[in-house]
Amino acid sequence: DLQPVKRALISVSDKAGLIDLGNALIAQNIEILSTGGSAKMLQDAGISVTEVADHTHFPEMMDGRVKTLHPKIHGGILGLRDNDDHMAAMDQHDIGPIDLVVVNLYPFEETVAKGADFHTCIENIDIGGPAMIRSAAKNYGFVNVVVDSEDYGPVVEELMAHNGKTSIELRKRLAAKAYARTGAYDAAISSWYATQLGEVFPDRMVFGGTRQQIMRYGENPHQQAAFYSNDENRIGVASSTQLQGKELSYNNFNDTDAAFELVAEFDPNVFGPACAIIKHANPCGVALGSTLAEAYKSAFACDTTSAFGGIIALNQTLDMATAEEIVKIFTEVIIAPDADDDAKAVIASKKNLRLLLTGGLPEPTTSGQLIKSLAGGYLVQDRDNQLTAQAELQVVSQKVPTEQELSDMKFAFTVAKHVKSNAIVYVRDGVTVGIGAGQMSRVDSSKIAASKALEAAQNAGDEISWAKGSVVASDAFFPFADGLLAAAEAGATAVIQPGGSMRDDDVIKAADAAGLAMVLTGMRHFRH
Ligand code: 5GP
Repeated sequence: DLQPVKRALISVSDKAGLIDLGNALIAQNIEILSTGGSAKMLQDAGISVTEVADHTHFPEMMDGRVKTLHPKIHGGILGLRDNDDHMAAMDQHDIGPIDLVVVNLYPFEETVAKGADFHTCIENIDIGGPAMIRSAAKNYGFVNVVVDSEDYGPVVEELMAHNGKTSIELRKRLAAKAYARTGAYDAAISSWYATQLGEVFPDRMVFGGTRQQIMRYGENPHQQAAFYSNDENRIGVASSTQLQGKELSYNNFNDTDAAFELVAEFDPNVFGPACAIIKHANPCGVALGSTLAEAYKSAFACDTTSAFGGIIALNQTLDMATAEEIVKIFTEVIIAPDADDDAKAVIASKKNLRLLLTGGLPEPTTSGQLIKSLAGGYLVQDRDNQLTAQAELQVVSQKVPTEQELSDMKFAFTVAKHVKSNAIVYVRDGVTVGIGAGQMSRVDSSKIAASKALEAAQNAGDEISWAKGSVVASDAFFPFADGLLAAAEAGATAVIQPGGSMRDDDVIKAADAAGLAMVLTGMRHFRH
């Protein structure tokens, strides 16, 4: 799919590399059309060009606001060379094809950065440039669009290599870059405009998303905050309807999202009822149960202290029995796919309790990207949408885990995926009994989880820690045997972890010596 380049249009504000490019095009017998300043610079260097005004028989006017906005230009760029009607129209109106568009835009961003006044910034909004870029990119099948002087080299190289032609691969790559440029350009304009209007949170964010709510404050009272939802793929909290209670706060949004993402791992058709209780984006109790009320009670029992003021996520319709349990203590938010009428009536007795209904559960394996901002930029990564399937679990210990241990280990590992690293999760019979989150050392998380399991037992009037006879999950490998030994000491009988440490052999030996079953998942679930 090589296409010839016979005519180029050059209209650039940043004139870097212009003369070299002009000479290279002339060497390929390419005719050059150009606008005022660009044409002058090329002519001064002895490069012969046709002024766009001479080509269109229409002068540049209105201080350059109208230079290239003409059918002879846009028809020449947009006409499909393999379409008879298009070619006939071009013939009829004497529109010559333009095969290469070299445009960089009025320096809007630089003008704003220099602190220019409102009027000057407005005058630096390029109109014809983005129009030509978008036209040329649309006709990528025949037209090359260059928005960055860095690309002069690669284009000239192709022209030389292919006897005055370019490849479809190059034209597609240039087109993608072109739309990224015009998108970023308009984003810069809209962001600047919002600032001029004193809008901290405009209706639409420059990088996409529609504003749904401005909060009273952000993570702390001295921070301003807003919630923006995706335009497509609105799931979870973003798709929910709030039945009652105050508006969600910034932290409510964050925690409710974490809660619902976690509970969505448990498809009710496979796992039955499930409940997760979240505080500060970490679960303080997660449980499966034969009824939803039982799942809630078990999740609550894991850490009755932390559950106060928590966020509750359910994987199925909230029923009255569960609602009656929930209203016994103060809870900030309940999120569930749906709620029965009598459950709604129970919740209504707690005016401030927010009840969000989503109509379903998001599919946990859905792909997507997560963005995390840094001081000078941002990180983008795929969602952690993977989970180790049972088939991939590798038993490495002498002791073979029982069926119950295996299903508890899978549950524990799934919960650990949603606990801030370092994460250690003890589980017994489909219920978390101790969770250690967010510690800088894995052994500290192990100790905290074990002490939580003892505290949970004591709160329930048991003398023996609930870690006794439990399984334990670790979100990443044990670098040393110490974390594992802490789990054995607490009474765990089986361990699930990714493996992959230099000292896996030592850790496996320690598991065998302690009589623990151990399985490796081969997959890590850090969460920060
Ligand atoms: P020159 O220095 O060649 O006179 O102008 C080049 C600049 O004009 C480029 O940044 C190009 O994007 C911009 N430009 C080209 N055509 C038009 C137009 O019709 N209207 C406006 N506002 N800018 C244009």
